[in-house]
Amino acid sequence: MSKTTVAAPAHEPVAVRAGDQADPALTQEFTTAWKRELSQRSDAPSPDACLRAAIVACRPELADRWAATQAADAKRARGVRRVHYLSMEFLMGRALRNAVSVMGLDDALKAALESHAGAASLGEVLEQEPDAALGNGGLGRLAACFLDSFATLELPSFGYGLRYAHGMFAQAIQEGRQVELPDEWLRHGNPWEFVRAELRYPVGFGGVVESSGGHRSWKPAEEIVAQACDFVVPGHATGRVSTLRQWHAQPSRPIDFAMFCRGEHMAAGQHYEAADTLNWVLYPDDSTAAGRQLRLKQEFFLCSASLQDMIARHLREHAEIDTFGRHNVVHLNDTHPALAPAELMRLLLDVYSMGWEEAWAVTTQAVSYTNHTLMPEALETWPVRMFEELLPRHLEIIYEINRRFLDEVGARFPGDTGLIARMSLIDENGERRVRMASLAIVASHKVNGVSALHSKLMVQTIFADFAAMWPQRFLNITNGVTPRRWLMQANPELCELLDRHIGTDWRADLHGLKALGAKAAGKKIGQEFLATKRANKERLAERVRRDFGVTISPDSLFDVQIKRIHEYKRQLLNVLHVVARYQAIVANPGADWVPRTVIFAGKAASAYHAAKLTIQLIHDVARVVNADPRVGNKLKVVFLPNYGVSLAEVILPAADLSEQISTAGTEASGTGNMKFAMNGALTIGTWDGANIEMAEAMGVENMFVFGLRTDAVAKMKSWGYDPRLYAEENFALQQVLDAIGGGVFSWGEPDRYRSLVQPLLHRDPYMLLADFADYVHAQEQVDALYRDPAAWAERALRNIAGMGAFSTDRTIAEYIEHVWADPKAR
Ligand SMILES: *Cc1c(COP(=O)(O)O)cnc(C)c1O
Repeated sequence: MSKTTVAAPAHEPVAVRAGDQADPALTQEFTTAWKRELSQRSDAPSPDACLRAAIVACRPELADRWAATQAADAKRARGVRRVHYLSMEFLMGRALRNAVSVMGLDDALKAALESHAGAASLGEVLEQEPDAALGNGGLGRLAACFLDSFATLELPSFGYGLRYAHGMFAQAIQEGRQVELPDEWLRHGNPWEFVRAELRYPVGFGGVVESSGGHRSWKPAEEIVAQACDFVVPGHATGRVSTLRQWHAQPSRPIDFAMFCRGEHMAAGQHYEAADTLNWVLYPDDSTAAGRQLRLKQEFFLCSASLQDMIARHLREHAEIDTFGRHNVVHLNDTHPALAPAELMRLLLDVYSMGWEEAWAVTTQAVSYTNHTLMPEALETWPVRMFEELLPRHLEIIYEINRRFLDEVGARFPGDTGLIARMSLIDENGERRVRMASLAIVASHKVNGVSALHSKLMVQTIFADFAAMWPQRFLNITNGVTPRRWLMQANPELCELLDRHIGTDWRADLHGLKALGAKAAGKKIGQEFLATKRANKERLAERVRRDFGVTISPDSLFDVQIKRIHEYKRQLLNVLHVVARYQAIVANPGADWVPRTVIFAGKAASAYHAAKLTIQLIHDVARVVNADPRVGNKLKVVFLPNYGVSLAEVILPAADLSEQISTAGTEASGTGNMKFAMNGALTIGTWDGANIEMAEAMGVENMFVFGLRTDAVAKMKSWGYDPRLYAEENFALQQVLDAIGGGVFSWGEPDRYRSLVQPLLHRDPYMLLADFADYVHAQEQVDALYRDPAAWAERALRNIAGMGAFSTDRTIAEYIEHVWADPKAR
């Protein structure tokens, strides 16, 4: 891995124990701390107690590494930019396994457990840890993978987020329907957390703006305190740790004691409640209007607390505020933290008395922004009215940014009033609203998309006007995933196979996987690959039997689609194929079918009707298909509830086939696609997002590519797409739609799925019917290859060989080089 020296000089190693190797002194400390924590117990400790003891025993070393990392970063602060990654979501998952493996404590933990007769097994203890699910899906998981790579690449950095009491909801299934239950990951506290008692910042809301002698100052009506709580992420093969600093909202003053003494207990602590609501929930990304004001408050809370913290650190290290932009990166993970530039401007202007031009130069030098979606409905806007109420000074600042910006637009493109209206930071159609993406672009020196196709479409469509004005500002940086969690920890058997055949260099630099290409056709390696896949499939089958009481056969092809349930991701297209296959099997049960188990997992946003109905349809289809004696083991359908990081870690190594079937042009990148391919699953996918770059890296002949491409989708839409024509000329498709729409799977309520099927025949905005025949054809090719295990194994190994570029280590190296390194320092 080449390290960019400007931002992350690697030549000053941190003076702590290098990771990943067992260290006798550390092992001793761990064991002592473990015993101390469990000392009052004579009986075998419960799995919960063991989990707690293990975490507590890890803490001192993590604290040391954290302190050493910070000390090293402070020392090299001159000439090095610190990256601050602002994100409303961090989908972390569990931490214990990563921590013990980084510190080389796996054996110590195992031995500690074995020292108690009757104590839980290592596996049970690891499974006891709740997922830190402070994110909805890909965007939040990306942020978590980034923290891992920050540590590996020795990048001076902080992740900034919120400490939600309730993260992503837990999904239960009742009678085939999704039920949302609150996630209670903090029920037993969070032993990982380091509360930084001294780091507290006031964050204001509401109130008025006062003026004296040309100086504006904001007098908020309400103040809430942001308390820093650190979550430490240790990196592999480095003594360093990354920090996720999470803000916890607390009341700014004690209870009203007089009121309390009068017996008005609730009223005396009302402001406690008001502050605490900010901590309650992570908002589901597809949610409706409910609670929007609270969401805006959360977003501002994140921005304001994080910037105050950055400025305090900057002033400790550099004394002068005017160099803030030279030494600090403020990166916006989507537009959710897009208030950051407005808050930074307020702090520089009102608190540090800078002039506008200077403050703006500092701000744009610091800020950069990643766009994650092209869907117009996902582009965040906030009513001006809400700003007037909550953030009056920020509204003034946004108006001034806008005035200066539109002057610039007018000078560049004179007389184009349509352009001015489109580019304005304020949407004047209907209720006036602030356009957060536009604010983020105007305030950033770099704006990137997350795959080559997405970045291209971004500048051609939603941001075309901005790209015409500032072509140099836009670039692509394709997403990745951390191979530590998603390959090394999730699939140790496969990793040992790789070590045996290509050595261990790939562990430090994933590009090393390329060496596998020359060996992929080998007979022995192919057989070994199939054996590890088999073992992983058995492990998953066992988990599914144990946790969900469903039997699936490792002899069948595991065909897997796991991700958020969304119309554009087209789980419904997968279901159409399942039903077509079911009907074909029933019509010809004696044919030589390749047995398949189709596995789904994913959560639907609570207010997203079509997504929830899709989950129900999957269950209904599963019920009918799995019980049909004519089908037997030729086809099984299962839905695994409560998808999350930990469930993904068990499913991915067991997958044969990865379903990445979004409508071309809709999936910005996808990262699930990368995790599957690294684990030796073949991809059936559309020419969309990062699928394209994966196909190019591994050889397009090694992926099952199908469906319309972006240009064809656009053309068909502009010509007038008529989905009925596809149904009319495809008898199998007609039968599938008739069966679902006519109640074959919803006996007793024949109309249940009308609202899913009818729109397919009329508008079909995601082009399921246009892609159906090609999808089924690609599935037949999957069957054909699967009949030849040696050919399948070779293909899988070629997939793995092509995945070198899809590590977040490569992604972060590109951010450092193209976005975060100070152009003036280069
Ligand atoms: C990787 C991951 C995602 C993103 O999956 P996509 O298939 O790219 O949408 C979402 N949720 C979890 C838990 C993940 O691990």
